[in-house]
Amino acid sequence: MPQIIDGKEISAQIKEELKEKVMAMKKEGISVCLAVIQVGDDPASSVYVGNKKKACAYIGIASLSYELPEETTQEELLALIDKLNKQKDVDGILVQLPVPKHIDEDAVIRAIAPEKDVDGFHPQSVGALCIGQRGFVSCTPAGIIQLLKRSGIEIAGKECVVIGRSNIVGKPMALLLLRENGTVTVAHSRTKDLKEVTKRADILVAAVGKPKMITREYIKEGAVVIDVGIHRNENNKLCGDVDYDDVAPVCSAITPVPGGVGPMTIAMLMNNCVESAALKR
Ligand code: NDP
Repeated sequence: MPQIIDGKEISAQIKEELKEKVMAMKKEGISVCLAVIQVGDDPASSVYVGNKKKACAYIGIASLSYELPEETTQEELLALIDKLNKQKDVDGILVQLPVPKHIDEDAVIRAIAPEKDVDGFHPQSVGALCIGQRGFVSCTPAGIIQLLKRSGIEIAGKECVVIGRSNIVGKPMALLLLRENGTVTVAHSRTKDLKEVTKRADILVAAVGKPKMITREYIKEGAVVIDVGIHRNENNKLCGDVDYDDVAPVCSAITPVPGGVGPMTIAMLMNNCVESAALKR
């Protein structure tokens, strides 16, 4: 049977480490504060925001919560971001996406000061990642690198295939694997013969957004399989982009859904907040 990469356990370890770090920083008079903005009351967003605030409380990070009505204008939202950019005690600013349709998401992302961009979505953060400079890295791919490293999986020299090229998962994932000296291929909806490409992978990251699409025909025997997808199946149970039961017997290591990549995203967000506070001082 494969090694089950336990994101719950690894994210709990990271949160404990951060809790200690925050405690030590407090002794030196350094506090950490995250501002969380939600526009509208999308139920999924409310759950994500609630979980982020809970993680802050656990680690000892102060959180400022802004729950804005759906009809908030772009100008009002940008004015709040501008105020928080200038507020010295705020280390990180997070706007829960998606924002309502009348607000330009790119304008919101660009408005956040790069030194407070704990989601790592600002073009300056992405550019820094691209050319190997310091900057915040998108939390989900950063969490996947931690999952691999903390599970003792070597990346250097490995054939890595990422399925998906979104700005928040696929592209930063490819750049991070490259930074770790993997040989990286990015596949997407226009890739010809996807199975032929994915079967080259020693490490396969599936960020396709299609429930259980990746079956064992896509997998090289002994590969490490990372499943980023989150979906609800017909029985309202969580599942990923990978057909876990079909793939697990042929791979050497795999992340489950739930309990794999998901918990790492929040842990890395917390990590970025702590880093922001530490860097500022
Ligand atoms: P997007 O929908 O933005 O991107 C999906 C990517 O998959 C696109 O690049 C698309 O290609 C590619 N794709 C779609 N269909 C195929 C196909 N048949 N063959 C090959 N490639 C295909 O999704 P995200 O990157 O935002 O998210 C991916 C998944 O991860 C989702 O299930 C999402 O819910 C989940 N997620 C989980 C997180 C977590 O914390 N665990 C965080 C973020 C996302 P093209 O560009 O050509 O259209």
